[in-house]
Amino acid sequence: MKAPRPAWLTEEAGQSDMMRLECPFCGIRDETEFRYGGEADLAMPQWDAADPQWADYLFFRDNRKGVHAEQWCHVRGCGQWFRILRDTATHRLGGEPEARG
Ligand SMILES: [Zn+2]
Repeated sequence: MKAPRPAWLTEEAGQSDMMRLECPFCGIRDETEFRYGGEADLAMPQWDAADPQWADYLFFRDNRKGVHAEQWCHVRGCGQWFRILRDTATHRLGGEPEARG
């Protein structure tokens, strides 16, 4: 039996009970076509940076509540990576999706 979706998610998704993302190449698609790629805009440390700086870059994320820059890949579509802004509390998307190189 399928677990009921939280009201805050179904209200955001409209008629569908799943999150929908906008690929900059293909348009709006269901979340099942995408793979989450983690936080966007991380600054890689210099090659000679200390171990704690590398550990912070490689292993630790802010995981904050609110608007968050993320990378997504349209794995069941065009296969391209892109960056979006998403509110982690409401799943509301903001800004224009940007293609990643
Ligand atoms: Zn796509």
